[in-house]
Amino acid sequence: MKVLLVEDDAMLGEVTRQGLKQEGYATDLVANIEYAESALLTQNYDVVILDLGLPDGNGINILKKLRKKEDKTPVIILTAQNTIKDRVKGLDAGADDYLAKPFDIEELCARTRALHRRNIENPSPIISYKDIILDPTSYQVIKNNKNITLGPKEFVILQTLIEKAGKIISKEVLQEKLYSFDDDISSNTVEVHVHRLRKKLGNDIIKNIRGVGYIAPQ
Ligand code: CA
Repeated sequence: MKVLLVEDDAMLGEVTRQGLKQEGYATDLVANIEYAESALLTQNYDVVILDLGLPDGNGINILKKLRKKEDKTPVIILTAQNTIKDRVKGLDAGADDYLAKPFDIEELCARTRALHRRNIENPSPIISYKDIILDPTSYQVIKNNKNITLGPKEFVILQTLIEKAGKIISKEVLQEKLYSFDDDISSNTVEVHVHRLRKKLGNDIIKNIRGVGYIAPQ
């Protein structure tokens, strides 16, 4: 799962990014509206976490632009301006949730998960696919009633493919899910994780469509 975090307080931004990373979210951290908008143009995000007081304006403008384009990416507003008026303004502009500073990182992660679930039109936290059950809240995978341990990156790849079962997902999209801008991307990383997933869950779990991408067959 890929998150865009827009926060100009460098320390808070980094602490939040690390917290999200520990939960398995690849997070791009940007500190102003300009960078946020170019990130949104070039990447696909599952959730946007948005501070309002930014050096080049009010973060709410990013949200308004997204909604004007009918982009429904879930947005959590993160701000110290926790008055009812600001909350209403944010929600009116199309925010999906609102968290006042100081906040608990675990609460932010739980809300991020909840919004992502809503966005994939699957209100149940449990994702099932053939004889496999995935629980994104605990990273638990059960196959044939047996617990299978997956690394966070393997989990993200499997979840992405299963959520869109029957559709081909390109290697680039899978790579994007795994890394933030500042992480080194090695060209065979996705292959390595797919190989491990097949070893753990069986060869037929993921098909490779040569030159196009990967698919979890329906
Ligand atoms: Ca700020």
